[in-house]
Amino acid sequence: SIVVTGATGHLGRHVVEQLLEKVPAEQITAVVRNAEKAADFADRGVRIALADYNAPASFDGLFSAGDKVLLISGTEFDKGRVQQHKAVIDAAKAAGVALLAYTSAPATLTAALADDHRGTEEILLDSGVPYALLRNGWYHENYTENLAPVLEHSAVVAAAGEGKVSSASRADYAAAAVAVLTGEGHENKTYELGGDTPWSFAEYAAELSRQTGKEIVYNAVSPDTLVGILTGAGLPEPFARILAGVDASIEKGELVVSTGDLSRLAGRPTTPLADAIAAALKG
Ligand code: NDP
Repeated sequence: SIVVTGATGHLGRHVVEQLLEKVPAEQITAVVRNAEKAADFADRGVRIALADYNAPASFDGLFSAGDKVLLISGTEFDKGRVQQHKAVIDAAKAAGVALLAYTSAPATLTAALADDHRGTEEILLDSGVPYALLRNGWYHENYTENLAPVLEHSAVVAAAGEGKVSSASRADYAAAAVAVLTGEGHENKTYELGGDTPWSFAEYAAELSRQTGKEIVYNAVSPDTLVGILTGAGLPEPFARILAGVDASIEKGELVVSTGDLSRLAGRPTTPLADAIAAALKG
């Protein structure tokens, strides 16, 4: 069967929904740590498996030989994500799965945020399990789901200078994952995934102005200023530093992905940023 970890997360939900359009529900297993969050999937016939990245034994016997697995990277930065992911990879190897696809980060990304992804990729490649690296670029939603302060201050604040980002919607990355999980010939392939059209923060502010009818400017700040703003808004400093590091990477062009892999796998153009803004403004 097709097994998806992190299935109750934002990306995982898109993946399961899109899988349901392509394969019978009983061929899909959603790995979750809270069964209640997956009740809607269970109602539709998706198999639910309970496991936690922090409890390697919870993955014992979860996979079967021949399964195709999507390991969606975790979010618990303080709990050692590489070891968490290793627990899943070890279980997949023991079971003899046919494919393990992992949601990684672009090869070009040097920000600290990418370290766990590089560490996981290394373990996956060393494991000998047939792999697919889905090196996901940035989500539109990282920006469009955080519009409240932007609209309040009529300013997009970032420490990214004139740098551009090839973001795409989570649904686009999910479509690529579904293509890999349901298609053939993806073993030991690496995909650099990003949106078709890179954009700058000045362009983002201009599009927000156009759609809201208000003048919204881009306020380019230094990384330290951004950390100050984010911690002032209540973010823990280590996380604020991680986000500022991402902006520094954007300024250097590290989140521009120009392979076309995403639209090729999805079989359609990626979602324009303007569409994601429109959806977010409609709320
Ligand atoms: P979400 O935070 O919505 O989902 C994360 C998923 O990981 C959830 O299903 C969560 O389970 C699961 N998870 C976290 N910790 C554990 C654990 N210990 N054991 C089992 N499951 C766990 O993130 P998204 O879906 O938006 O993104 C998917 C992943 O992509 C993120 O986890 C992160 O690694 C990465 N990411 C990428 C971004 C990008 O722009 N490319 C931006 C942000 C994140 P539960 O539902 O129970 O909470």
